[in-house]
Amino acid sequence: MPNEVKSLNEECGLFGIWGSNENETAGLIHDGLHSLQHRGQEGAGIVVMDNEHHIHRHRGLGLVSQVFSDNYVFDDLKGNIGIGHVRYATAGSHGVKNIQPFTFHLDDFTDFSLAHNGNLTNADTLKRTLQSKGASFNSDSDSEILGQLIKMSKQVKFIDRLKEALRQIKGGFAFVLSTGDELIAALDPNGFRPLVIGRREDGSYVVCSETCALDQVNARYIRDVKPGEVVIINNNGITNDFFTNDTNLAICSMEYIYFARPDSVIHNVSVHEARMRMGALCAKENPVDADVVIGVPNSSLSAALGYAKGSNIPYDMGMIKSQYVARTFIEPTQKKRERGVSMKLSVVKSVVEGKKVVLVDDSIVRGTTSKYIVQLLKRSGAKEVHVRIASPALRFPCFYGIDIQTTEELIAANHTVSEIKDIIGADSLGYLSVDSLIKAINLKNDHGEGSGLCTSYFDGKYPTPLYDYQAQFDKSAEELGLYEEDNYIERSI
Ligand code: AMP
Repeated sequence: MPNEVKSLNEECGLFGIWGSNENETAGLIHDGLHSLQHRGQEGAGIVVMDNEHHIHRHRGLGLVSQVFSDNYVFDDLKGNIGIGHVRYATAGSHGVKNIQPFTFHLDDFTDFSLAHNGNLTNADTLKRTLQSKGASFNSDSDSEILGQLIKMSKQVKFIDRLKEALRQIKGGFAFVLSTGDELIAALDPNGFRPLVIGRREDGSYVVCSETCALDQVNARYIRDVKPGEVVIINNNGITNDFFTNDTNLAICSMEYIYFARPDSVIHNVSVHEARMRMGALCAKENPVDADVVIGVPNSSLSAALGYAKGSNIPYDMGMIKSQYVARTFIEPTQKKRERGVSMKLSVVKSVVEGKKVVLVDDSIVRGTTSKYIVQLLKRSGAKEVHVRIASPALRFPCFYGIDIQTTEELIAANHTVSEIKDIIGADSLGYLSVDSLIKAINLKNDHGEGSGLCTSYFDGKYPTPLYDYQAQFDKSAEELGLYEEDNYIERSI
């Protein structure tokens, strides 16, 4: 898919609740989704199961506050169990039919709904097989496949149908599901995406993508869902099962670098603290003589603070961000992305005028943001701009749910560090090494070994086969010479 923005990528946010007051359930899901808004801004939806096990749903395109702007929609969302979803997708797949949660009718006694965060790597193959067996799809989303597999299963109990379906899907997936009386959570064998369980004082249970959503609804953190695990919450409390024992935690390192909110804690690692350490280690690896450290708001501020601490260069608020522009990365064309960045960011001139500035960002993907900011800082009077990236160079696409699926769009896959420095107009450029990233996050896998992280965007080491994506990836990797031994990664220039 050269130079084309691929259509279906799901870096999304999930929230589910069991056992809340029937008049409060939808409101709590709304509040939880609101705090997960950073994980998806294209659409939002809520499903509530009523006491007769009927499904009630409201969903739409836009931010949570837009989709649920009319209070009357909550009158139709009454019940003790519900799930919600915020969706992040790129161009091409707009339309309410792709907004989750999806709902399914299994038999006269069972309706269920589900919501997904991640990307299935064998979706095309499974979809073709399911269609040949008569399944009819209501969306273009890979997330619907799990529901169709559950419907097709010959198992009797819902949980057995689900486990059978989970064994067939590959890639990155965190799911929340609700039946008439249960809330269920499931995570892929590598735990690529975060998913946590909490409990409120009224006894209700919450399962959601990040702990910031637990805080939002006053739920106490219980634990993270484990790779390969299915968690079932019903009148018997919490029980669990595994659909596979072949597990190896490899959580997406971009969750720590960029996606998650800094007040979240993933696998007992504070996102803010991890970013501070990334910044501090970046300072040790890429020192520079400068007057002030500034960060690109908001996702880079923790790393910029860390860089300042690690380098003993003062930190200041050199840039501010408009609260009213959505994330620019998902804009479908380069022109729109550039305009989006310019509307979003402005410089506090007095902080940078006549100074040697260290500009810390969490990552460079296409280079749009850094190029624009370097120009802006220079126009605002900065004497020198030294760009420091608090993560390694992004050279390989992600197939597990982050919206970077083609090597062609990654500037570091196509250019050396010194070329990137010139393209973005910086006086110097430095990246964090993969080793320091691993050190900064300081995690172990679920067997107490290794890094517990997926770092494939930086080193091309994918923790699973790529299934439907393998041929496409091999072709572009070969074209770009990514497999050649002497194509080593420079870190700074
Ligand atoms: P770019 O302008 O294309 O180089 O994008 C870099 C900016 O996008 C960084 O400042 C990050 O904060 C942000 N970013 C990094 N990865 C992603 C992603 N997968 N989706 C959306 N935004 C991202």
